[in-house]
Amino acid sequence: MARRPLKPCAWAACSVLVCGETYCDKHKPLAQQRDAERIKRTNQDYNERRDDSDALYKTYRWRKFSELFRKRNPLCKHCSELGKTTQAQLVDHILPHKTHPELAFTWANLRSLCWACHNQIGAKVGLVKNKKSL
Ligand SMILES: [Zn+2]
Ligand SMILES: [Zn+2]
Repeated sequence: MARRPLKPCAWAACSVLVCGETYCDKHKPLAQQRDAERIKRTNQDYNERRDDSDALYKTYRWRKFSELFRKRNPLCKHCSELGKTTQAQLVDHILPHKTHPELAFTWANLRSLCWACHNQIGAKVGLVKNKKSL
């Protein structure tokens, strides 16, 4: 009768010997849960970062272009409309790059924003547009 070799459980700091399994009975469900959570987190991170990782923003051309734009427009445009003076932290496309890729490098389609305004505008695109048209 062939027996498979005993190996220690793969869980950190567990020395229980297992046969043909990676984890002992106690750690097997914990490991499965941990792996499932890890996969879920990875997918979430991916979805959250997907917009930022848009190929354009990684290009040398965009980095140089947005740097120059920010030098000329160092303050958050949205804040200055509200009478506040805030250092801009990024360059945003007024008409989104996704729907208007041809305007990616059009000076008039860009605005300097701080992160707070960028996030706010991103979350309320509809509202911001409505306010402007009023
Ligand atoms: Zn174990
Ligand atoms: Zn701002």
